[in-house]
Amino acid sequence: MADPRRFDVVIVGAGIAGASLAVALSGAGLRIALVEAQPLGERTLPQGTNLGDFDPRVSALTPRSSEFLQQLGAWEAIAQYRHCAYHHMTVWDAEGTGQIEFDRAEVGATELGHIVENRAIVHALLARVNRATDISVLSPAVLQSCTRLASSGMSLELEGGECLEADLLVAADGAMSRVREMMGFTCREWDYGHRAIVATVEVERPHERTAWQRFMPSGPLALLPLPGSEDHHYCSIVWSLQEDKVDAVLALDDAAFCAELERASEARLGAILASSRRYAHPLRQRHAVDYVQPGVALVADAAHTIHPLAGQGINLGLQDVAVLAEEITAGRRSGVRPGQLELLRRYQRRRKGENLVMMSAMDGFKRLFEQQSLPLRWLRNVGMRQIDTLPPIKRQLMRHAMGLG
Ligand SMILES: Cc1cc2nc3c(=O)[nH]c(=O)nc-3n(C[C@H](O)[C@H](O)[C@H](O)COP(=O)(O)OP(=O)(O)OC[C@H]3O[C@@H](n4cnc5c(N)ncnc54)[C@H](O)[C@@H]3O)c2cc1C
Repeated sequence: MADPRRFDVVIVGAGIAGASLAVALSGAGLRIALVEAQPLGERTLPQGTNLGDFDPRVSALTPRSSEFLQQLGAWEAIAQYRHCAYHHMTVWDAEGTGQIEFDRAEVGATELGHIVENRAIVHALLARVNRATDISVLSPAVLQSCTRLASSGMSLELEGGECLEADLLVAADGAMSRVREMMGFTCREWDYGHRAIVATVEVERPHERTAWQRFMPSGPLALLPLPGSEDHHYCSIVWSLQEDKVDAVLALDDAAFCAELERASEARLGAILASSRRYAHPLRQRHAVDYVQPGVALVADAAHTIHPLAGQGINLGLQDVAVLAEEITAGRRSGVRPGQLELLRRYQRRRKGENLVMMSAMDGFKRLFEQQSLPLRWLRNVGMRQIDTLPPIKRQLMRHAMGLG
């Protein structure tokens, strides 16, 4: 009989990345464990549409991500819950007249993407996990230490003393990954000196299924459309601000915060009528130099965190998951262990370049819009207006952002 504490793959972290990897590997003839620090008991999703009922963390999922979640059998449940397909995107420069419009018609798509609450994605994935007979869920369980075995594979200890062994340990434990730290992965990282304020707000005018984004020297502001009703229009905001400005904005009462946000959004959606509680997330860009070691792989935020300005973080993470699952299942068919370094290096080769390109582009955008010098501002505005009139270039940009090109 197999040792109940020995697994082929142990995934640490049951966020979107970890839970989707467990589902993607299920059925491949592997023994899988999913270790999560938070309790994962039966939870129901809130059905109300009061501001406080929305998860302040939402993701703009690209069509490529939705398709992957569909392959995992999770999309139907996500789509049945409240979400908002967006058809249009308006990006404008606070310092001039530059503006670009992106519309689904330009790429012949039914939508540019979907705004989905993060907890709805995790909920749908965990429902799949709970139905699988080859995934053991350990929760609440915190990984405390991990060491490489002399033979092959990894030895793991959970808080409380429980021990596990894994041929492959996957770090899906997020931006502050303990696995990455404990296994000594080198990371290039820099602080943007920004924090992102997230909240759900009610706006006066319909959002027209448009994702609105205004670039200011102090950082970008995004208003992402959420489902509402004929009389109530909601958006999720991601407002990235310089560190020294954040505390003052967080300290504002509801009315003053709404007034400040209305100014920052140039009242494009009319008055900001109400806001939920505000949360702030520090923004750092991180990229692990290597994603793999023998018996260990980093995925999603554990491998890279990116500025949220283009909403690409988990979209890149889901592609890591898809590729790693593909390599592990192909290896399984040809008798290669999941923790074998060559197999893991193939995963790294296929993902690192694409992640790097997106991260560099987002970093460049952010820096460009921070520039205050007149010639640069002029160039930026002319550039935006030019691109707006060049359909082939716009199409290419859109296809890339949608994960299609
Ligand atoms: C303000 C903001 C807006 C964003 N908007 C978007 C967007 O529109 N589109 C997009 O694609 N991305 C967006 N992102 C990025 C996206 O949220 C992240 O990429 C994504 O949540 C990362 O998922 P993950 O599963 O890798 O990590 P996480 O969601 O951080 O999950 C990690 C899990 O690991 C568990 N864990 C950690 N340590 C341990 C341990 N030692 N033992 C056991 N369990 C552990 C945690 O409890 C957690 O459940 C945004 C990010 C921010 C900050």
